[in-house]
Amino acid sequence: MPAKTVEDLLAILKQRDGHHPEFCQAVGEVIESLKVVFEQNAKYISVFEQLLEPERVIMFRVPWMNDKSEMCINRGFRIQYSSAIGPYKGGCRFHPSVNLSVLKFLGFEQILKNSLTTLPMGGGKGGSDFDPKGKTDREVMSFCQSFMTELQRHIGQFTDVPAGDIGVGGREIGYMFGQYKRLTNKFEGVLTGKKYNWGGSLIRPEATGYGAVYYLQEMMQDNQTEMKGKVVLVSGSGNVAQYACEKLIQLQAKCCSFSDSDGTIIEPEGFTVEGLAKIMDIKNNLRGRCQDYMNFSKTAKFYAGQRPWAVFEGHVDVIMPCATQNEVNGDEAKRVIAQGCKFVSEGANMPSNDDAIHAYHSSGVFYGPAKAANAGGVATSGLEMSQNSMRLQWSREKVDEELHNIMKKIFKQCKDTAEKYGKPKNYQFGANVAGFLKVADSMIDQGCV
Ligand code: NDP
Repeated sequence: MPAKTVEDLLAILKQRDGHHPEFCQAVGEVIESLKVVFEQNAKYISVFEQLLEPERVIMFRVPWMNDKSEMCINRGFRIQYSSAIGPYKGGCRFHPSVNLSVLKFLGFEQILKNSLTTLPMGGGKGGSDFDPKGKTDREVMSFCQSFMTELQRHIGQFTDVPAGDIGVGGREIGYMFGQYKRLTNKFEGVLTGKKYNWGGSLIRPEATGYGAVYYLQEMMQDNQTEMKGKVVLVSGSGNVAQYACEKLIQLQAKCCSFSDSDGTIIEPEGFTVEGLAKIMDIKNNLRGRCQDYMNFSKTAKFYAGQRPWAVFEGHVDVIMPCATQNEVNGDEAKRVIAQGCKFVSEGANMPSNDDAIHAYHSSGVFYGPAKAANAGGVATSGLEMSQNSMRLQWSREKVDEELHNIMKKIFKQCKDTAEKYGKPKNYQFGANVAGFLKVADSMIDQGCV
């Protein structure tokens, strides 16, 4: 029987996907926001029922040879979730924790995020349980080539355009692009996050981190707060965290932490430009660990196995989780709120669990949810696709200006939609409703497909 109520939707979700906890968490959070929309117009319930199921799930074997000439086997995935408003678009994640639940949650979030960017992109996500950490360049290349050998038959510039995510940066995109070209004999914008010399966009590496800070800036302006001098805790030390820190320094805020899966590094007075350059060198060139930074700073402290929100002492204004899902729990949220935290801008996807989000709302914290705050990455991927189609490349200034404008437009949609439904300042609600309605109306237009 088709779903008629929210309870029906939740029952279908539980019955089909109860064993996929991250997916249920991401979908449940959106259903909660959409209750008021469903009450006003029941046709959206059946649209949402369609969205409980991805359009296509592709799962495949990835055989590759390691440096000892042993054959290794990983599992590859591509979730082609929704093409309602454009070709499937979303990153690839290489991490041992990758499974169907994680990729379906990421694909689902991507649909609404891409809708908010104002660009014509559907939602997708992919990846593998392959762990690039500790592998040689040759091993990473062998894996990427094998991964693309299967993936290439499912993607294309008008079909599905993957990009990077955790464990997939410029190196991995390069190996995958090379293999795609070899197999198809096509030089086309099939991947984004490419390097500049072979079709990438300037500012794409910076875009997610910069965008999350631009979103923070909008939230602050909406609430009469200055960025200058604010104490910000950032987690992660990869692509998103690094460029969030760079933009925070440019805007004279103090970025006081980085982390990785081994622990947290705190720089009490904030990372300097030189300190950030050191972190970037450790992570991007030496492929080392956060802890290695201790060799270069007399003031930093390292906390093994800890996250920034659990160890930082002193006043906090903002947290920006930029590592992974469910990395801020309720107790950690309450701790930073007690230290003064008033703003959250999420660089990672679904980094705050339900208890943490509840703590933000019940304490009047201004909360910028991932699908809005970190949409700058995919938005700039959209700009990379446009440049590829036009066969030209824009200047840094132009791309940055476009990114900044898109982040302003995303914020405005969140703010205006929240106000329209009588929930002022609830940017999470605004993001979910605005993102959903554009996709839902497009699905209705296109019929039962
Ligand atoms: P990177 O691989 O560049 O960096 C990931 C960082 O997070 C590393 O410091 C890594 O530490 C840490 N991390 C990953 N998993 C865990 C874990 N389970 N526990 C603790 N630390 C962890 O990835 P990105 O910076 O690209 O991505 C970070 C987040 O931002 C992800 O949630 C991603 O989905 C999201 N995002 C990324 C976009 C992009 O453009 N890259 C766009 C939008 C969202 P370690 O090295 O120890 O694993």
